[in-house]
Amino acid sequence: MRLSRYFLPVLKETPAEAQIASHRLMLRAGMIRQASAGIYSWLPLGLKVLRRLEQIVHEEQQRAGHHPMLMPTIQSADLWQESGRYNAYGKELLRIEDRHGRDMLYGPTNEELITDIFRREVTSYKQLPLTLYHIQWKFRDEIRPRFGVMRGREFLMKDGYNFDVSKEDALHAYNRHLVSYLRTYERMGLQAIPMRADGGPIGGDYTHEFLVLAETGESEVFYDSAVTDLRLGDRAIDFDDRAQCQAIMEEFTTPYARTDETHDDAIFAEVPEERRRKARGIEVGQIFYFGTKYSDPLKALVQTAEGEQVPVHMGSHGIGVSRLVGALIEANHDENGIIWPEGVAPFGAAIVNLKQGDTDCDWVCEELYAGLNAAGVEALYDDREERAGAKFATMDLIGCPWRLTVGPRGLKEGNVELTSRRTGESEAMSPAAAIDRLR
Ligand code: ATP
Ligand code: MG
Ligand code: MG
Ligand code: MG
Repeated sequence: MRLSRYFLPVLKETPAEAQIASHRLMLRAGMIRQASAGIYSWLPLGLKVLRRLEQIVHEEQQRAGHHPMLMPTIQSADLWQESGRYNAYGKELLRIEDRHGRDMLYGPTNEELITDIFRREVTSYKQLPLTLYHIQWKFRDEIRPRFGVMRGREFLMKDGYNFDVSKEDALHAYNRHLVSYLRTYERMGLQAIPMRADGGPIGGDYTHEFLVLAETGESEVFYDSAVTDLRLGDRAIDFDDRAQCQAIMEEFTTPYARTDETHDDAIFAEVPEERRRKARGIEVGQIFYFGTKYSDPLKALVQTAEGEQVPVHMGSHGIGVSRLVGALIEANHDENGIIWPEGVAPFGAAIVNLKQGDTDCDWVCEELYAGLNAAGVEALYDDREERAGAKFATMDLIGCPWRLTVGPRGLKEGNVELTSRRTGESEAMSPAAAIDRLR
């Protein structure tokens, strides 16, 4: 992308309404603009990051054997009456009346709708196990939308639903989700710790929230510092292997880690004192097993191998895709701007031309731009007639992992400069070597 032709409305001033770094930086870097309270437009740069996260979520869900689909944002109230949640959900539920006077709602989650689809189409244990998911906009009329996309009213969420014939099978689905979530967050360059959580309005006995530690997080958390040493890494995972998924679940959930809702001082006291931590965290996902909570009232039955009709065992599993953009920035920034982890950066590299209009500089920049694109690295080329300082400031703000600086002085030696946004370290090398390095 050539910056001269892009739509990147960066702000020099710090927007007064933004209280936390990620909100400030998303506004300043031209990623989002507020449309109304808790509702945002995603500008091109913001959308690029959002799409990268969605892509990672899709890949990891499908790797775990889950099927993508898409349900609508607007739902009929009928199903919610049937489940009993139409009244129970309270004011967070945005209720809408259509022209015929029918009660509709903007979905805050999709248990009812997916259970309705399931009960119409699936009748036998032979069609199970089944996990369906979608990545779709949700609306919750939050009493206090704040921190930008972190607590929006409209937000993008991945929600997945497993259907199994028995509790045992459903708990495997639970473990499978836990493992796939660990992979997902690690690929984004984030540490999200599974913590024992409370069922909340969706309900359920088995539930973990995934929390990114951050001072600006809204949840209070208590944990054994040993949990922060755990990494899934690139170990081979067979998502059908129950024992392996169970072992990984136990590995990551055995050290004490709980949100304030489930925190227990007596159990916490058993953790060696030097490892006891109290901190704040951002909830970026949650998994639930809730058994027959919805299949009972909605009569989603399946026939077992013995010919019996039983309500299907379910769980639901969410990832806050749009909130993750904010969480990633909270975890990765400095006073100059965002520092994207490699896997989620909107552009893999930035090219800064220090002397636009200089034949050699322009030519080398064009070579780099074409070469990087051919090597599969999407580059953002600052080809504007601007001072070097302004160009550097913009690139630091939007935070591409690598910057290639092209100027007359370096070119005399045949070199361009490759700078890491994270470490600030620079190295001179030929344009070809730079392309090779970033490939
Ligand atoms: P919170 O405790 O922050 O209100 P929640 O527990 O109500 O979140 P879930 O129903 O578990 O949310 O939804 C799954 C995920 O969706 C959450 O883990 C979170 O990452 C994301 N999410 C929930 N509410 C919002 C919101 N208002 N804005 C942005 N993301 C949200
Ligand atoms: Mg909530
Ligand atoms: Mg919560
Ligand atoms: Mg939750």
